[in-house]
Amino acid sequence: MSDQNIVQQAWQAASDKQTQAQADYPELGCLSGCNDCCKHHGSPMTYAQEWDCIADWLAQHPQVYQQARIQYTQLKQTLQVRLAKSEVPTISGALFEAPCPFLQDERCAVYPVRPMTCRAFGNTTLAPHPSSGEQIYTCNPEKDRWEQLLPMLQEPCVLPERTDLFAPLANWGQPRSLLSWLERAMHADTR
Ligand code: SF4
Ligand code: SF4
Repeated sequence: MSDQNIVQQAWQAASDKQTQAQADYPELGCLSGCNDCCKHHGSPMTYAQEWDCIADWLAQHPQVYQQARIQYTQLKQTLQVRLAKSEVPTISGALFEAPCPFLQDERCAVYPVRPMTCRAFGNTTLAPHPSSGEQIYTCNPEKDRWEQLLPMLQEPCVLPERTDLFAPLANWGQPRSLLSWLERAMHADTR
């Protein structure tokens, strides 16, 4: 099976598990219309093979790629000004908390090919962190809401495990941030 087929299968499995989790626990889900995580943590880690799928999709949707280039260029310019004023310690650190350039008109413009990191955010669990004991892989407001709701469920809550979703991708070495893949692509285009 090709790498891209493995990615597509893993993405589909994640979608299926999320759909099932939302059907089982309809009160546990992202706030309707919310995209705050895309606005404040918009550089999700992405495997090279996932980026290949995204790049192919962008080649078929050049307007999305062009808009992402514009947004990313503006973002870097803004961050460089903030760096000069010592408002951010480093550009690379600030980029991790920056809006995703694929968030366009308040929606994910690459939704069909968004990386697993974005797919797994929401109704999935982490192995308990030794110090915090945190289990749910979602934003802090949702985590708080879930922790209030979970004890009210009649049966133990069974949600997809984040590590299971990533297992088909995990043999491919380290992922990179989505922004670094975009920057590489932009750099290659200007050669
Ligand atoms: S995880 Fe939280 S911040 Fe992200 S879309 Fe859902 S409710 Fe919004
Ligand atoms: S790729 Fe889409 S879902 Fe993921 S952070 Fe960017 S806009 Fe949000």
